[in-house]
Amino acid sequence: MSTPALDRVLDAVLRVDANFDIHFISEPGQHWLTRITGAELPTNFVQLVHPDDAELLQRSLAAPDSFNCDLRLIKGDKEVWINLRSYLLPAARQYVFCIFDISMWKTENSALKHAAEHDALTGLPNRTFLKKTVEQWIADGIEPFCVALLDLDGFKKVNDSYGHSMGDAVLIETTRRLTKLIGPGDVMARLGGDEFVLLFADKYALAAKNALKNVLLAVARPYDTAPHNAYLGVSIGVAEYPLHGDDYSLLLKNADTAMYFSKNAGKNRCTVFTLTEENVDFSIKAAIHNGIQEGEFYMEYQPQYDMHRKLVGAESLMRWTNRTLGRVGPNQFIPIVEDAGLMPFLGKWALRYSCHQLKKFHAKAPDFVLSVNVSPVQFGGEHFDEEVLEVIRETGIDPTKLILEITESTLMNSHLKTERALARLREKGIRFSIDDFGTGFSSLSYLTRLPVSSIKIDKAFITAMGEDTPDTTSDKKLVSAMINLAHSIELKVVAEGVETEAQFAFLKAAGCNLIQGYLLGRPMSADGIERQFEASAEVAA
Ligand code: C2E
Ligand code: CA
Ligand code: CA
Repeated sequence: MSTPALDRVLDAVLRVDANFDIHFISEPGQHWLTRITGAELPTNFVQLVHPDDAELLQRSLAAPDSFNCDLRLIKGDKEVWINLRSYLLPAARQYVFCIFDISMWKTENSALKHAAEHDALTGLPNRTFLKKTVEQWIADGIEPFCVALLDLDGFKKVNDSYGHSMGDAVLIETTRRLTKLIGPGDVMARLGGDEFVLLFADKYALAAKNALKNVLLAVARPYDTAPHNAYLGVSIGVAEYPLHGDDYSLLLKNADTAMYFSKNAGKNRCTVFTLTEENVDFSIKAAIHNGIQEGEFYMEYQPQYDMHRKLVGAESLMRWTNRTLGRVGPNQFIPIVEDAGLMPFLGKWALRYSCHQLKKFHAKAPDFVLSVNVSPVQFGGEHFDEEVLEVIRETGIDPTKLILEITESTLMNSHLKTERALARLREKGIRFSIDDFGTGFSSLSYLTRLPVSSIKIDKAFITAMGEDTPDTTSDKKLVSAMINLAHSIELKVVAEGVETEAQFAFLKAAGCNLIQGYLLGRPMSADGIERQFEASAEVAA
């Protein structure tokens, strides 16, 4: 062990007993040790060992004959990494410790590790580090968190017109601006090119989106790239864990999809990943499920007026405000709800909610009529009529003040069984209205055959009438024809989507019965409707 060759690699050889008292130190070891401990040579080895590694050392004694580990010695307030190989001398009940100083190697190794996980240009963590961090966060149960993918707008132009060194300067400057904005637990990484990622710990997507406003502003400031200033933007896509993905690659993919939405929508903006028609998947269904349970759904009421502009009723319209997706329109979520098989449940909920509200409206306006939409899926259900009657009993409303809106196609595809259900409900006083009238009928026979009391002319026809120009004449004739047809079989007519005075005037002259549209009132809360009762009571007084 004292051969010159070995001395060069071995920093110290010690012999200790079971109490770690030192009985022998090799000569090079004495020099090496005094560099650590100062002038005096230690008498016990444990005194030298970092407290966190003491247990590891104890284990070396328990090993049958040899043991190999890396541990730290303490040198003042610094640490020295050593590799320790321990060999049992059974006869003497002592141990030989062969010690290699590996501090150099440890720091070099961490420098290498740093280089492997960081981007040389900006010094930011790179893709490898990012993946590791996301996986670590998931393993640590950090929830929620957000992955925001940033792609600079206009970077290629800077690179092409001013050269790569200017491009590099822009990337460094962007890094400088953005690192100032991120919170202590957050992470900023560069994926390569002009793509960056921000990780927001413990944030829902909406909160992340809010924080990202500052990023948009920071990048929007001019970049001083002499001879001209460069103006850039940034397109951002956000995905939330676990709602939008439960692993690194799905989160990054969905953030990327959202980022492309930002690009396509005109750049320099932030989009939270949502599920559009192509990428509707399990997670939005899960969000709807949750939303139902957590009371994220509610109703609004769009007022309906007679031709003297007197408030007579309202249509109840479903609303969903989700914590991540924000407000989602019924045209977006109802098809998904239907597809997920949740519509019978949600539809029944909407009917009950609306009828409870109607009961409250009646305390102030006993003649108020409420229209509730019924999905074909609901209407075709096994016990639809029973369910409606049950809600009426439960809420105690006057059934003659309830109108169920169903679409033409629902009626045309109806079977004998559903027609009987309809007739049964009609007997109890409930009325039916044909929604979106004119958009798809091929036969009008159902109008006379079934107990329908009104039609709602689809807003597409009302919009098409537009202003007074010759090319809208035929649209007007069509609307007039619908009104006449309905009146000829004693149906009332509601026009929806009325936005202008000209449309109102025309419909009034054509004999339309009720008006619904932004001109007179947008969908509003129940309180909004009640305020209108009060306003009309004041006019009457
Ligand atoms: P809809 O039954 O045809 O409802 C009328 C839609 O037109 C509503 O949109 C309303 O806000 C909108 N609207 C009303 N007046 C105007 C106007 O003057 N201009 C314009 N541009 N739009 C106007 P909303 O609330 O987005 O509802 C969309 C559709 O979602 C509804 O169409 C209905 O088919 C469905 N829906 C809404 N609530 C429910 C519900 O509780 N159950 C079922 N099954 N379907 C519902
Ligand atoms: Ca409707
Ligand atoms: Ca409609």
